[in-house]
Amino acid sequence: MAQPRVAILGAGPTAAYVYRACLDKGIHPQVFGKEMVHGPHGAFWLYWLPQSVSTSRADMETILITKTGTVEEYRRKIWGEVEGVNCSFPTQDNAQMSGYDPDIWIPKLWGKEIAFDQREFVSDKEIYSFAEDWDIVFQTFPTFESRLYMNRIPIEICTYMFDMEMSSDNMIEYNGDPDFRIYRSSNLFGVFSTESAINGEGRKTFFPPSVGHLYSICKTIAYKIDPRQYQGPDIPAEMPDNLAMVGRHATWTAHRMAHRAYSLVRRYLAVWEMGVGGKDGC
Ligand SMILES: Cc1cc2nc3c(=O)[nH]c(=O)nc-3n(C[C@H](O)[C@H](O)[C@H](O)COP(=O)(O)OP(=O)(O)OC[C@H]3O[C@@H](n4cnc5c(N)ncnc54)[C@H](O)[C@@H]3O)c2cc1C
Repeated sequence: MAQPRVAILGAGPTAAYVYRACLDKGIHPQVFGKEMVHGPHGAFWLYWLPQSVSTSRADMETILITKTGTVEEYRRKIWGEVEGVNCSFPTQDNAQMSGYDPDIWIPKLWGKEIAFDQREFVSDKEIYSFAEDWDIVFQTFPTFESRLYMNRIPIEICTYMFDMEMSSDNMIEYNGDPDFRIYRSSNLFGVFSTESAINGEGRKTFFPPSVGHLYSICKTIAYKIDPRQYQGPDIPAEMPDNLAMVGRHATWTAHRMAHRAYSLVRRYLAVWEMGVGGKDGC
């Protein structure tokens, strides 16, 4: 059976998993996006890798998760007064997780021969032309129409650069103490970062653990989606059958981690092979 011609829109972590899922089926997609990104700064890591990329448990790193304060305060610091929102605040005082360093493993998901076509900006209208030109299109960012419904809470991520490597022990602290504006700090894969809601409360400043000389602080802005404000659909009702929305931001009501894209794309390709197609969000 002839392989489908596949286009991937966007080049973030989800796109890397989409690309790998296609590659593992012998399909070589064309990627269209602004730039290839390894994911946000802060407490971001990869939860899972397909066998074609790693089969060794030794590639996984241990991450210690700790908490102070309460989940209610943690939520309030990010979203304000809100109850029952699912969040990653741990239930135990000390927990361990395993994961992969995105800076190492996202390039491996892409592999060596990626066909990347830089597009600064793909409009909603252009997406429909992609769907006409390609057998299957996976879109990994939200449409502009759906962004109108999304209420986003800006967060500030500070990454501290020292002239010495941080310790190799990976740790994340969830902070539900109302006095601190920081809601999460992490020392992951040698980089120390803090995250705080820009409009969040809490007075105390935060001092990172001192290892050598602090020579720069890099600040970036990211967004959390306000879960109380689902005013409209993330996936437009009228979409071509061969266009699938996939990923954390493209299907923002589903709250899926980036790695989930792999199995969803494999399922989509299997359905496509059976000649059925499908337009529900992956
Ligand atoms: C601090 C923090 C920690 C997180 N931790 C985790 C974690 O541990 N695990 C996890 O799975 N998720 C985590 N998340 C969520 C995380 O942001 C996403 O999982 C991940 O970035 C999603 O990747 P994505 O490819 O879906 O979207 P994005 O990272 O937003 O990538 C989308 C890509 O599309 C491009 N693009 C967007 N619009 C257009 C356009 N119109 N035209 C062309 N290109 C466009 C962008 O430039 C980008 O390259 C975290 C988020 C934050 C802020």
